[in-house]
Parts: sequence; structure tokens; C-alpha cells
Amino acid sequence: MKRILITGGAGFIGSHLCERLLKEGHEVICLDNYFTGNKRNVIHLLANPLFELVRHDVIEPYYAEVDEIYNLACPASPPHYQYNPIKTMKTSVMGAINMLGLAKRVNAKILQASTSEVYGDPKVHPQPESYWGHVNPIGIRSCYDEGKRCAETLFMDYHRQNNVRIKIIRIFNTYGPKMNPFDGRVVSNFIVQALKGEDITIYGDGKQTRSFQYVDDLVEGMIRMMNSEDVFIVPVNIGNPKEFTMLQMAEKILEITKSKSKLIFKPLPQDDPTQRQPDISLAYKSLEKWEPQIDLEDGLNRTISFFNEII
Ligand code: NAD
Ligand code: UDP
Ligand code: UDP
Repeated sequence: MKRILITGGAGFIGSHLCERLLKEGHEVICLDNYFTGNKRNVIHLLANPLFELVRHDVIEPYYAEVDEIYNLACPASPPHYQYNPIKTMKTSVMGAINMLGLAKRVNAKILQASTSEVYGDPKVHPQPESYWGHVNPIGIRSCYDEGKRCAETLFMDYHRQNNVRIKIIRIFNTYGPKMNPFDGRVVSNFIVQALKGEDITIYGDGKQTRSFQYVDDLVEGMIRMMNSEDVFIVPVNIGNPKEFTMLQMAEKILEITKSKSKLIFKPLPQDDPTQRQPDISLAYKSLEKWEPQIDLEDGLNRTISFFNEII
């Protein structure tokens, strides 16, 4: 049994991770400032004596004795991370420094939730980990993209300089129950719009692509990465390689929900990547043949049931 700290644990992915690690019998400290997360995501865990919920902002130092740290604290949806871009950068960078300082002091293993955004609007397709990316350093997405890139640099430097036991995963678009219905990401927007019979908002011509993984597949990948050997420190892509356009995504959601919502077209946000697909051969090879198990239809059905309940 380990004592595990999860920053951003009250968010979408973090709350699934809290649940899973408690189920495995570990002690979990969930740390969050509730910017985009919500106590309701973890309220059902409060009765468990092995679970502890802490209101704290990762840009401030934090002291605890733990064996492992999953560093997820950071708003992930473009409207939210762009709402206060300076704070987003502080969260990524100062949050990483504080959590790495903590890991160094207590000799904990620490995993960084990095992102496919480190590849920017990629010129190499699909994206292997060896690709350095094509990122605008001064645009409206930069606070997030460059913040996450800087955090990766800090992780590697804490490893090289201080022997901190680090892990970096690059998460590609993830969806599932407990996504915030108002956080502006494509899957939650389309499902909520379809269920309410509102217009489906396609940004641009809808031909931009993404590859979506179901949250349970990601959580499995995160845990396997954390459990991998200390000498394995290179960043690893975790995502579902099935790629499709936002128009196809809208049509799939309309089909499953049997909604009569109409598609409407809105301007494409600045620097919106045109295509994105993970090369997951490294994860497959290094993480005991990890690969996504849940297909889009199944994942969307589970997610739509969740939204049906809360709407
Ligand atoms: P989320 O917004 O639901 O969760 C982020 C959590 O971090 C929230 O609970 C929020 O309140 C908390 N937080 C934000 N700033 C904080 C701060 N300064 N101090 C303490 N807590 C803070 O997003 P998510 O989708 O669950 O993403 C979790 C992590 O995974 C993020 O780091 C994100 O960048 C990364 N990621 C997510 C995706 C995806 O598709 N969901 C893709 C790539 C990377
Ligand atoms: N830190 C923390 N918790 C700890 C240990 C360190 O939050 O248990 C913070 C500490 O406040 C510092 C940061 O982590 O700002 C980086 O720590 P490190 O030891 O690397 O650097 P230093 O303290 O020498 O600046
Ligand atoms: N998108 C869309 N309609 C929406 C929300 C998003 O067409 O209501 C598009 C968005 O422009 C992007 C894709 O869907 O091309 C994925 O957006 P999301 O914000 O979910 O993730 P990210 O852009 O960070 O991959």
C-alpha cells in the first residue's frame, strides 16, 4: 500500500484516478483549488478513511510525506486555460517546481500529466515522442502549450540534476463521465447540445481532426507508466490512434443520442491544430502492451449516460 498525492484530483481525469487508486487499496491525498474541478467529483470518496481532500493551490509550496505524486493540476480546456493565461503558466511552471521539490525531499516518484499540445500544430503525422513539435510561443494557446513544455524541461532537469524519479506522459484528447458540462471541450459541448436539442457548434469547417481516448484507458496507462522501472524516463504518448474529424464526431453523437439538433459553423479559434494522432508504439512496447480497449461507440454511450443523468 502506498500513499499517493494527486494534484488536480478533483478534476475530470484526477477524480477517476483517485477512484482507481483507492480501489487498489492505496491511501490517496487529493489536492485541488477547485478552479475547473469540483468537490462533487470526489464527494462519494469522502467516507473512505484512506481518502483525504485538501484545498490547496500548487503555485504555493506543499508539504506531505508521500510515495508517489501524479501532477495533474492545470486547467485543460482552451476557454478555461485562456481565461487567466498568466495563472495557467504559473500553475504549470511553479506547480511543477513545487511538486518536484516535494518529490526530491521525500524521494517520491512523480508523474507529469503532459499533453499532445507540446507538438503544437504538428507537421509530422502521426506524432511520435521524438518529434519536437511546432508550437507558437506567443499565441493564445501558448500559456498552456509552453507551460507544459517548460514543465517537461523541469522534470528532465530535476532528474538529471537531482536524481528525482520522474515520469512524463503526453496525454491526447480524453473524454468520459465527469467532464465538466460547461468547460467548452468538444465532446462535452456536442453531447450537451445534442441532449438539449440545441445547435451543434462546429468551429471552422469541422475538417480538423483529433483522436479521442476514453478516460479508463488513460488511467490504466498512467498507472502502468508510474509502475514502470525507474530507469525508464522518456516521455510516452498515451492516446487512442483512431483519428476522425469534428464533423464525424458531431454526426456520431447525433446518431447515438437520436437528436434533431442542427450543425452550425462558428469561427475556428486561433492556432487550433488541424490534425492530431498519437503514435503509441512506445507505450505498447514499454508498458506491457498498453493500448486502448474501449472504442468510441462504447465510450460515447457511457459518457452520454452520465450527461443524461446530470442534465
Ligand atoms: P480538469 O480541468 O478537469 O482538471 C484539472 C484540475 O486541476 C481541476 O480540478 C482544477 O481545479 C485543478 N487545478 C487547476 N489549477 C490548479 C492549481 N493552481 N492548484 C491546484 N489545483 C488546480 O482537466 P482534466 O481534463 O482532468 O486534465 C487533467 C490534467 O491532464 C491536466 O494537467 C491537463 O493538462 C492534462 N491533460 C488532459 C487532457 C484531456 O483531454 N482531458 C489532454 C492532455 C492533457
Ligand atoms: N517544496 C515544496 N514541498 C516540499 C519541498 C519543497 O513545496 O516538500 C517547494 C519549495 O518551496 C521550493 C520548490 O519546492 O520552492 C523547489 O524545491 P527545491 O528543493 O528544488 O528548491 P529550493 O528550495 O532549493 O529552491
Ligand atoms: N470544437 C468544436 N466545437 C466546440 C468545441 C470545440 O468544433 O464546441 C473543436 C475545436 O476547435 C478543436 C476540436 O474541436 O478543433 C477539439 O477541441 P477541444 O477544445 O475539445 O480540444 P483541443 O483543441 O485542446 O484539442
